[in-house]
Amino acid sequence: MTDKFQAVVIGGGPGGYVCAIRLAQLGFKTACIESRGSLGGTCLNIGCIPSKSLLNLSEEFHKAKHLSGKGIEISEVKLNLSKMMKNKDKAVTILTKGVEFLLKKNKVTYFKGTGSFKSKNEISIKDDQNKEVLIQTDKTIIATGSLPVALPGIDFDEKIIISSTGALKLEKVPKKMLVVGGGYIGLEMGSVWSRLGAEVHVVEFLDHITPGMDKEISSEFMKILKKQGIKFHMQHKVEQIKKNKSGAIVVTTDKENNKKDFECDVVLISVGRKPNTKGLNLEKIGIDLDKKNRIKTDKNFKTKLDDVYAIGDVITGPMLAHKAEDEGIAVAENIAGQSGHVNYDTIPGVIYTTPEVASIGKTEEQLKELNKKYKIGKFSFMANSRAKAIDDAEGFVKILADETTDKVLGAHIIGPHAGELIAEIGVAMEFGASSEDIARTCHAHPTFSEAVKEAALSVDKRAIHS
Ligand code: FAD
Ligand code: NAD
Repeated sequence: MTDKFQAVVIGGGPGGYVCAIRLAQLGFKTACIESRGSLGGTCLNIGCIPSKSLLNLSEEFHKAKHLSGKGIEISEVKLNLSKMMKNKDKAVTILTKGVEFLLKKNKVTYFKGTGSFKSKNEISIKDDQNKEVLIQTDKTIIATGSLPVALPGIDFDEKIIISSTGALKLEKVPKKMLVVGGGYIGLEMGSVWSRLGAEVHVVEFLDHITPGMDKEISSEFMKILKKQGIKFHMQHKVEQIKKNKSGAIVVTTDKENNKKDFECDVVLISVGRKPNTKGLNLEKIGIDLDKKNRIKTDKNFKTKLDDVYAIGDVITGPMLAHKAEDEGIAVAENIAGQSGHVNYDTIPGVIYTTPEVASIGKTEEQLKELNKKYKIGKFSFMANSRAKAIDDAEGFVKILADETTDKVLGAHIIGPHAGELIAEIGVAMEFGASSEDIARTCHAHPTFSEAVKEAALSVDKRAIHS
């Protein structure tokens, strides 16, 4: 007799485990299958959490080295990299164990192994000894996430040619690190190793970093990172990577086809991630993929098959943990006959560098493309009293509002705690607020959030402190 479930989730990342918990809350007999041996997916094990731990610790290290200018004398600040890594690993263990506890608490059955379809309603689970268990299910939710993209013909060894996974566990600080791709991972992990002492060079295919971000913010971001010592080589293409005794030589060409070689100890390839559908046996049950190999779904996350759904990085949309989580909740509610829904216009994106960069809604470039008439409100942290008081005043808040209705259409922040400040705009946008609604809301003094209020005031040219 095989076990029978009402719902089975394949993948225990932020999409999968959240979906499994919500299904159980809604009364379904639910199982969650995860192959990596620990729950939490890319995000908790090799993504959001370990990277944020290292971003925080490397920033503390960097700040401690520069405290004397602020009147705090410390005789010597030394790096203990292995202790720093242990600290990061501790955070990962606590959080992944926490997810296991949550599954247990919600009575979700957790299978450790690799899931694949035997048929539409029968799932095979193979453990690391290749022992197979079969389970029956009414509904299946695929949440198998994504994997790093490699450059053609260049494999990751995770020592010299590394993906983000290798960048989270280097055993020593490289003298020189070459980062291929100036996006989320390249700039976050580049910042970590730059603060810890590496000379970091970023080679980017385009003429700007962080594609898709509001251009004004992106160029300010690059200016600030350059001041921090990161070197950028724009419109460069990697042709070849040759490993040598001490590291690698990266052969590139620029837009005029001039050849330039970079010698480095470590090359981080961060040119994007690809959906992970490997080994699921999707062909057998007839599930379609799009041109980018993402699982095709309708707006209710249903694949071509009635009982099979997909969410998170393995489908279309931004590859972000909170997007995967929200889809996990929405699909569970849809399966339960409710009206689960994700508003893709209000998904924030945050880069956790110093300063942080956060955005939500439309960029100026997108509004122009849509022929939408808009007003801009901007406020610099240079004029924000809290930021000045603690000498952390780089960056600005930019709010875009409809020229006629004043409805907030987007917001982009570079500056201290931008990732927290953007949540206020998210709530405002969900409620269909105008910039005046934000401007007339009382914000505590002295806080960074006053910069958001002032940017909202500035939409109608009535900021007080600039
Ligand atoms: P995943 O988290 O990838 O989880 C899928 C899980 O499914 C994996 O654990 C995998 O082992 C498992 N699996 C795959 N196939 C099978 C199978 N056949 N059977 C059983 N299990 C299987 N996003 C943010 O929002 N904020 C951040 O700060 C952030 N930082 C990041 C930093 C890095 C370095 C990286 C790489 C990513 C970061 N992301 C961040 C992106 C975020 O991690 C992903 O968007 C998110 O994890 C996607 O969730 P998911 O559940 O769709 O997939
Ligand atoms: P990305 O899409 O953010 O950036 C990739 C960059 O590489 C782009 O600037 C692109 O123009 C460039 N590029 C592409 N091909 C290139 C080539 N051949 N040579 C040089 N440059 C090239 O991808 P990523 O940094 O690998 O991150 C993957 C995804 O993971 C992100 O898109 C994001 O969804 C997620 N992530 C999120 C966070 C966060 O939320 N803070 C952090 C890390 C990762």
